[in-house]
Amino acid sequence: MRYISTRGQAPALTFEEAMLTGLARDGGLYVPETIPQMSPGDISALAGLSYEEVAYRVMRPFVGTSFGDTEFQDIIARAYSGFTHDARAPLVQLGPNHFLLELFHGPTLAFKDFAMQLIGQLFQAALARRGERVTIVGATSGDTGSAAIEAFRGLDNVDVFILFPHGRVSEVQRRQMTTPVESNVHALAMDGDFDDCQAKLKDMFNDFTFRDEVRLAGVNSINWARVLAQVVYYFTAAVSLGAPARPVSFTIPTGNFGDIFAGYIARRMGLPIEKLVIATNQNDILHRTMLTGEYRTSGVTPSISPSMDIQVSSNFERVLFDAYDRDGKAVSQLMDELKSGGFKISQGAMGFLNEQFYSGRVSEEQTSATIRAFHAQTGEILCPHSAVGVTVAQDHLGTTPMITLATAHPAKFPDAVEAATSIRPALPEAMADLFERPERVSRVANDLGALEEFIRKRTKT
Ligand SMILES: *Cc1c(COP(=O)(O)O)cnc(C)c1O
Repeated sequence: MRYISTRGQAPALTFEEAMLTGLARDGGLYVPETIPQMSPGDISALAGLSYEEVAYRVMRPFVGTSFGDTEFQDIIARAYSGFTHDARAPLVQLGPNHFLLELFHGPTLAFKDFAMQLIGQLFQAALARRGERVTIVGATSGDTGSAAIEAFRGLDNVDVFILFPHGRVSEVQRRQMTTPVESNVHALAMDGDFDDCQAKLKDMFNDFTFRDEVRLAGVNSINWARVLAQVVYYFTAAVSLGAPARPVSFTIPTGNFGDIFAGYIARRMGLPIEKLVIATNQNDILHRTMLTGEYRTSGVTPSISPSMDIQVSSNFERVLFDAYDRDGKAVSQLMDELKSGGFKISQGAMGFLNEQFYSGRVSEEQTSATIRAFHAQTGEILCPHSAVGVTVAQDHLGTTPMITLATAHPAKFPDAVEAATSIRPALPEAMADLFERPERVSRVANDLGALEEFIRKRTKT
């Protein structure tokens, strides 16, 4: 199994190389050269298996020879052992033909744990075998950073630096990043918004001297291994509702297009998914793109679902690559145009995107109203991101079961939830003392040279 860049100019890599590299050297993202297929028989055979066993069967073909069979099984077992629900990703029913896939039972209470816990174990195994050390730098709108710090804290062969927009993450998110005591993890509060953090990260990857000097590695949702880990729960959810005999639909609260891209891969592998619905908050570049055929950025407006406050949706490049028949030159050109504000998608490519995705946008008021209504009707307390998904999903209910992804635990966003329901959701037991733990954070400027110097001084390479 080989991985190729969406911009067509970087060398093809193995799974392990693509994982350790993150962003391709031509600025593109790695995607598998071919998509492994699961037959209806293969999918039926997943019924009744544990989450870990399904994970193994779904991901194994993508990993190729990078990890041995038993090694990979052990890695999966370790990755999910810290989850507090035995099903890992349980389904609850919200109403007729509407289900919620709870992805927040991992150690930092957001779906990011599914990918990050796995990637931590994969990095550890690969680096130990190679006798190498890497510097992981990540940008976060909140949940990626806490999940990364949790997954990599105390591991031998990595230093981790997480850039988050100062003052723009929730207090629980910040504390999850600033309270771990291990000296190999660093939380950096940067001046600016998430897109500024993401832009600085990209600049570091494009500074090849720095990149090679600190052996830079990335674990943002551009990392293929993360997308792959997220494909698994589309299978477990669909199979538990009767797939492959019965198709299902999914609605996904979306920011960087990572989680929904995993659903698209599940469909390409053969999982019968009828609708894949993009749900955005007021930062709605993806919804506007689906409506107008133009991908054009505007400023970020902070919302009560901050993990989706994004205007440049990195993983969208991966689906564009397919929409343009895997023409790396065409994608490169679009990404050049993006530097000056946006691009128009060709009619053929838009036809492809309209076949694959539906979309909807949710206002702040609607998000709160949904949290309030579903709490009253079902007792389920939704986090604001999940509420964005549930709101959009309601426009797509029908005879096919709809599964909305619940991407975070409500206690991660207690202010928004309390404003909507008058209930302040409590943190789970393991995190109950989060507000008493001392914080460790460095305030940094939105300045490439200063950031690189900061990181250089603190790496153990
Ligand atoms: C990251 C995140 C999202 C957006 O996911 P993408 O994969 O970036 O589209 C939605 N909700 C929560 C809670 C998140 O942490």
